[in-house]
Amino acid sequence: MNATSLKLERPPIVVVMGHVDHGKSTLLDYIRKTNVVAGEAGGITQHVAAYEVTHEYEGQEKRITFIDTPGHAAFQAIRARGANVADIAILVVAADDGVKAQTLEALAAIRESNIPFVVAINKIDKPNADLVRTQGSLLEQHVFLEKMGGDVPWAAISAKTGQGVPELLNLVLIVSEFLELRADATPPAQGFVIEAHRDPKRGIAATLIITSGTLKSGMAVQAGCALAPVRIMEDHLGKTLREATFSTPVSLVGFDSLPDVGLTFHTYKTKKLAEEACHLEILKQQAARDAQTPEGFGERFVMPIIVRADASGSLEAITHEVAKLGDEFTAIRIIQAGIGNISENDTKTALAATPIPATIIGFHVGTDATAREAARQHDLTIEHFDIIYKLTERLEELLATSAPKRKIEEMKGRAKVLKMFSSRRLEQTLGGKVTEGRMEKGSLVRITRRKEEIGVGTIESLQAHKSHVERVENGGEFGTVISADFDILEGDMLECFTIKTV
Ligand code: GDP
Repeated sequence: MNATSLKLERPPIVVVMGHVDHGKSTLLDYIRKTNVVAGEAGGITQHVAAYEVTHEYEGQEKRITFIDTPGHAAFQAIRARGANVADIAILVVAADDGVKAQTLEALAAIRESNIPFVVAINKIDKPNADLVRTQGSLLEQHVFLEKMGGDVPWAAISAKTGQGVPELLNLVLIVSEFLELRADATPPAQGFVIEAHRDPKRGIAATLIITSGTLKSGMAVQAGCALAPVRIMEDHLGKTLREATFSTPVSLVGFDSLPDVGLTFHTYKTKKLAEEACHLEILKQQAARDAQTPEGFGERFVMPIIVRADASGSLEAITHEVAKLGDEFTAIRIIQAGIGNISENDTKTALAATPIPATIIGFHVGTDATAREAARQHDLTIEHFDIIYKLTERLEELLATSAPKRKIEEMKGRAKVLKMFSSRRLEQTLGGKVTEGRMEKGSLVRITRRKEEIGVGTIESLQAHKSHVERVENGGEFGTVISADFDILEGDMLECFTIKTV
């Protein structure tokens, strides 16, 4: 298995962190103004919360992506989901102020996320700047700077005048080279949602940072349960894009709901595939919730109805029959019943019912004109019957169509992880052996360690005997790439399953 053959060098994604007023925004502004690709008119669009710059390093033009303010917030939101969007952090510390409370917070977040960082000692143009004291305050926090006995790269800069900023960018590129960031441009894009907002004129837009693959016009993006066609896509300069790849930030317009910041996004060739992925996402969330609630899968769907009949005898018979309808997942509840015509009062009650407006049933009775008008206005269903079994038949039909579709898991097989080849965000490459049933490409996979569930991922690709396959049967050894935002380890068990709608 040669998992790295298609991979190209990927520009680093950088987050700028530090104490308030230490110059994060000034630094981001300076880099943006001086390094954004020359000749691009029109300035930066307001709502793309990241930008890409070029910087010459050792005679080569290199790209760097910066997460713009509120970079810190986005970084933390993504961290909270157990993933990293940034490859490198710049920790800004003002030379006239030294290490402060939020410097420590930033440092803790950087250390926790295990990403390398570069220190920018800022404001060295100020008369009261004290480089030595600032270095000392960093040392106290165990930040051991290069040339001072440590290995943390640092630069003394002025975000205001630009002094030292090119050196800072050199350091970022040196660290990046060391990280050997690579990604594959061929598959549909994956990455993170950095920001999302509702634009009064254009609808819901989000800034996405692509970490692998390519995003092309005509595809569809899914982030959690938010979907968007790749139609209106722009770069950070507001220029229309038909295609984008890593580590480019793009603004994508046309989401059907607001995606959460920090979510990973996936891309699909068609809208239908994206919708299916969204259903799976709901299921994963439901599975995660169910794992927390011992009661297990969801509640019963109860369809509300209102019954009006000509006599108490028939009302009683209807009540009796209705109680028999439904199953362990569905039921019908009579929320109001009475003798006489269907009235406006019934339509009011029907409208207020949950989880859906009640269906109004008349048995040998008529409907008042006001009720008929209210039903028409509010799209309520009123149905009349004069035979009980026809009434129950119809209710069964209505129950089947209004009950939410249930999704159940169908187990395909189990396998053991024999060897981990690489463990990257959203891309766990490993070898394993099927111990029961089969593994299927495209299926969901539940990962367990010592019988404890670690999480759910997707089997992105499957290989056996050095070629791509759709499935591997019991006893077979295989290589696979699993999309999961947590680390899989040797010895973990994989349980392959799909979801059926019933
Ligand atoms: P942030 O809160 O970290 O984003 O800080 P800002 O970028 O908003 O900067 C806070 C203040 O410090 C602003 O008034 C900036 O003009 C000023 N500032 C930032 N960098 C420098 C610098 O290198 N030199 C000087 N003299 N002032 C700076």
